[in-house]
Amino acid sequence: LYIFPEAEIWSEGTYMSAKFDIFNFISLLKSVLKEDGKIPLHEPLFAGKEWKYVKDCLDTGWVSSAGKYVNEFDFKLEQYTGIKHSIAVVNGTAALHICLKLAGVRQGDEVLVPALTFVATANAVVYCGAIPHFIDIEVKSLGVDPVKLYDYLKEIAVIKNDICFNKQTMRPIKAVIAMHTFGHPVDLEPLLEVCKKYKLDLIEDAAEALGSYYKNRHVGSYGRLSAVSFNGNKIITTGGGGAILTNDTELAKMARHLITTAKVPHPWAFIHDQVGYNYRMPNINAALGCAQIEQIDRFIANKRALAEKYRKAFSNVHGIRFFTEPEYARSNYWLNTLIIDEEYKEMRDLLLSETNKQGISTRPSWELMNKLEMYKDCPRMDLSIAENLGQRIINIPSSAYLGE
Ligand SMILES: *Cc1c(COP(=O)(O)O)cnc(C)c1O
Repeated sequence: LYIFPEAEIWSEGTYMSAKFDIFNFISLLKSVLKEDGKIPLHEPLFAGKEWKYVKDCLDTGWVSSAGKYVNEFDFKLEQYTGIKHSIAVVNGTAALHICLKLAGVRQGDEVLVPALTFVATANAVVYCGAIPHFIDIEVKSLGVDPVKLYDYLKEIAVIKNDICFNKQTMRPIKAVIAMHTFGHPVDLEPLLEVCKKYKLDLIEDAAEALGSYYKNRHVGSYGRLSAVSFNGNKIITTGGGGAILTNDTELAKMARHLITTAKVPHPWAFIHDQVGYNYRMPNINAALGCAQIEQIDRFIANKRALAEKYRKAFSNVHGIRFFTEPEYARSNYWLNTLIIDEEYKEMRDLLLSETNKQGISTRPSWELMNKLEMYKDCPRMDLSIAENLGQRIINIPSSAYLGE
């Protein structure tokens, strides 16, 4: 099955020949989606007790920063992930911010961040006054490449008094953020070895990866601290929301304190012992979250079924491949991903524009962080894999209900 014309034909570059192949591409997508009309990239599904729990908040007046649903949501997240502590917050970006703060990231430090990520990962570093230092990804996970990182650190880093320094900038390098792209886990064990060797904290940006496992353990349990997101487009939603996950009881306590404006518990007095944040998740959002997480097994089963349908549909297609989970992982397939072969990558924008014109939402991956105006002068390693893959990725409709 040929999506793209043979290279020679394509090099003639007629729009007609391209158009014919777009037609093939769209009919393949349609054969999986079996839906007519507009198909969004990722829509939430409210098929459980959402109305009941949210109504309960309204009926009782407990809509804001206190109420039973916040604790219950944290408890359900702890049970689901097997991670000891969950601290629900206003969004995933705030969760990342607190993770970095608690890992001791301070003014003038550097934090290693994958070049291919959503902008929040780098922004959270800057909220701490630190500098993102961009690192490359690998083909099998679309996330941090531990081997390439190790070779790079051997070259540019030095350890003094148990602190890793960038020899070129003389700034401390404090942490690595592993972002699990589209829900596919980074190769965490080798990455942890690199972290150990170079005295770096591992922070997981698991915003997209609730329900994904690395070697049978839920992601977010490998880093010292991890962040998840419950934005409207994520695997489950609270409207807006996020959570800090950690197995460290002391850090969990500090996280709760920091997100509650660092208020010292007292029956009436307003005493705050440091500059804190107003980052707690409101009860009404947590109510939605409780109803959503009760359905997560079904969401993930559907998403994995949808991924399997895409994989089959594209398995014999020349010029493009469906991205599947790395061999060590069980992924939530948050966003399904096609990767165009090197020789046809110029076709991507045409595929994007034609599918969107027909109401099938497709998206490219994010612009690389080092290309963004505010981050273009940040330190970085060779980013050849991110640069290459960044031009070849197409995300295709991934809502859970499409896999039913
Ligand atoms: C969604 C997302 C975030 C941020 O989450 P919000 O809840 O939108 O603040 C951070 N990192 C990644 C990789 C994300 O996809």
